[in-house]
Amino acid sequence: MGTAVITGAGRGIGSAIAQRLAEDGFDIVINDINSDTSIKSAGEIAGKCRAFGVKAECFFADVSKYSECEKMVSDIKNSFGSIDVLVNNAGITRDGLMVRMSEENYDLVIAINQKSVFNMMKLVGAVMMKQKSGRIINISSVVGLYGNKGQVNYSASKAAIVGMTKSAAKELGSRGITVNAVAPGFIRSDMTDSLSSEQKKLMLDSVAMKRYGDACEIAGAVSFLAGKDSSYITGQVIEISGGLVM
Ligand code: NAP
Repeated sequence: MGTAVITGAGRGIGSAIAQRLAEDGFDIVINDINSDTSIKSAGEIAGKCRAFGVKAECFFADVSKYSECEKMVSDIKNSFGSIDVLVNNAGITRDGLMVRMSEENYDLVIAINQKSVFNMMKLVGAVMMKQKSGRIINISSVVGLYGNKGQVNYSASKAAIVGMTKSAAKELGSRGITVNAVAPGFIRSDMTDSLSSEQKKLMLDSVAMKRYGDACEIAGAVSFLAGKDSSYITGQVIEISGGLVM
């Protein structure tokens, strides 16, 4: 099946994607930032991936830093040979109303959510061009498509990912590489678990299916985009939001 690299895969949606792609038979590269907590959790996820009989290793790098990505991609190539699937999943939020948002929190979210996608698509795209095959899947958000109060920085980064996905799809298509995005809605996570019941009700009122999504429902779409049945789909955004907007 080849090798799949998933950024920010130590927990949350990224860890669900890593496990699903391992189940599909891909060897797995779990990237996460080099923090005490993520070293432990990424190691555990690698163990769960190996239980599917594939190779799985952790590579720690801050994907917002080009030089760290450059070293990581070179190390992955040396260890795994090919890179067949890239999932740009790492992301953060630093919410606040625009007039109160610090420049630092704007720049940080753009660097981690958006610049990282440039870093990894540029470096892994070059590897895939030589291979003349590959799948790139970028994790955007419904907030990038429709906006959200308190998330000017986050929506800017996630809307940019949509444009970058379409541009890269046009650049890489002739080399047999597809580039698509997934835009999740409200997915059950540490963040949504900590909301008050009133906040939860308000969010779910606008969702047709009246429930949060599960990380495995995002992983299922990524599995499809990484697999053989999506070979003629490129430059597309798949919204997975339980019918938030139609
Ligand atoms: P999460 O639980 O916060 O996980 C994010 C992962 O990214 C963590 O493992 C984190 O490491 C890692 N990370 C953060 N900065 C990094 C960096 N600079 N380099 C490498 N790794 C880094 O987030 P999630 O909810 O699973 O979200 C995953 C993706 O889906 C994000 O892009 C998010 O924007 C998007 N999304 C999520 C939702 C949702 O409802 N959850 C909805 C729409 C879109 P640490 O553990 O060390 O912090």
